[in-house]
Amino acid sequence: MEFKAKTPNVGVASFAKDHFKIEPHSVTIQVQTIIETSGGEIPVYKADIRFYRPNSGEYFYLLGCHSAEHLLSTAAYAIYGAKILDLSPMGCMTGFYCTFLAPELLEYSAWVRIFEDALAIETLPGALPETCGNYLMHDTISAKKALREFLNGYSEELFRVK
Ligand SMILES: [Zn+2]
Repeated sequence: MEFKAKTPNVGVASFAKDHFKIEPHSVTIQVQTIIETSGGEIPVYKADIRFYRPNSGEYFYLLGCHSAEHLLSTAAYAIYGAKILDLSPMGCMTGFYCTFLAPELLEYSAWVRIFEDALAIETLPGALPETCGNYLMHDTISAKKALREFLNGYSEELFRVK
């Protein structure tokens, strides 16, 4: 099968973003790349799930960020399975990236559901030495506080598909 990425290599896309314009409690989705196949084009999307305003002095608590990653990925994979390619925290500790194929995630409410499902998880998944790279570095209470604060601030105006 013919397989090639249609999008030109623009380097690290995030560096081209004006970080002064990024709002907290927002989800911004862009097409990361388009895979051209003999059967048609497959868009690969990337969501910037921003919890905190960049450089505001407010960031994720490291342990809470790690637990939020476990909760959010568990919820996202439970709904969308392999149509989620990745969900990981940003190194700057202000949010998460989610790379995905699922067109359902181009809707505002799909993200509300992921957050609600993540908040409903009672026992932190994957927090064992055999399933996590730093299983003691967790704080579920802090993670859920951050998830709840995100949901409280998130609105249709803060959801964008570019
Ligand atoms: Zn882990």
